[in-house]
Formats: sequence, structure tokens, C-alpha cells
Amino acid sequence: MTITAVTAITIVDEIVALFADQGSQTYLGEPVSMAEHMLQTAQAAERGGASPALVVAALLHDFGHLVHGLPEHSADHGVDTAHENVGARWLERGFGREVTEPIRLHVAAKQYLCTTDPAYLAVLSQASVHSLLLQGGPFSAAAVAEFDAEPYAVDAVCLRRWDDIGKVAGDATPSIEHYRSLLEAMTTC
Ligand code: FE
Repeated sequence: MTITAVTAITIVDEIVALFADQGSQTYLGEPVSMAEHMLQTAQAAERGGASPALVVAALLHDFGHLVHGLPEHSADHGVDTAHENVGARWLERGFGREVTEPIRLHVAAKQYLCTTDPAYLAVLSQASVHSLLLQGGPFSAAAVAEFDAEPYAVDAVCLRRWDDIGKVAGDATPSIEHYRSLLEAMTTC
């Protein structure tokens, strides 16, 4: 009998492969691809002094778009893909709540900021305003209070602000491989 060494495929390998396979998708009407957007968001988080967990959350915040299996232009057809929940659930098997909760809450953070920060709506891209309506619109006072009670509310708001600036055509970033060791350090399995 021959015993062949098998190299286990890790969750980080899967993430890197999905970035390569699916990352070139257009990002919902923005001038950057999905991978460029997530890499720019991670770079903004690093520059903003984010914790390692929050840099990983920024890097993977739209990961749900790579795995939800719905057509690329679903939002154009009035479909909310709930990518924040899809992504957070997919990533839960390999990352802790300090990574998955800001991801799960990053759409709610937009709705929250639209109500609590009068200047915020002006920074949103046209595509983001469009998806805001599909996602339920600005929060009510009750929803704001509920969001404030979330343990990762502050992290989610920080992530949201980096998300909003990570949409610059042609902006140079490190590749996904730059983040491999950080991703490996943050995995729980
Ligand atoms: Fe995003």
C-alpha cells in the first residue's frame, strides 16, 4: 500500500482562491472590481490603525458577494443579496466574532450613519444610495438604539467608512497574498 501525503486545503487557501476566481466581478456599479474594492478597504483600515481582526474584516467585508451564487447585477433588478449575512456565515467556520460581526453589521452601519450623521449621505456613491433603498433605507430611532447596543457597533461603523472610500479606480494596493499570514493568524481552526 502506498501512502500519499495529502496537503489539507485551509480556509485561507479557499479565500485566496475565491479572490482569484471571483474577484474580477464588477462591484455593483462602482469603477473597481470586487477584489480591488476589498483590497482598498483593507488598505484604508491598515492606514487607519485598525486592529488585525478589523483589517481582516475590512478585507473580507464583501466576501458574501463572491459566494452568494446570485447573478452579478442582482441589485439592478431590485434584489438584495443579503451579502453581509452570507459572508459572515461562510466565514464563521474559520474566524471569530471580532471578524464576522463587523462584516455582518456593515450594511446596518450604512443605514445607521444615514440617520445619525447628516454629512454621511453626501459621501455615498450613487450605487450605494441605490442599494440603501433595497436594504431598508435609513434607520428609525429604535433601530439606531438597537444598533448602538451591538457589541461590534463601533467596529462596524469604522469598517463602513473605509468601505465607502475603497472605490478609487486604479488605486494601487497590495495583493491578497500580502494578507495571507494575517488571515492565517486570525483563523480559529
Ligand atoms: Fe463594500
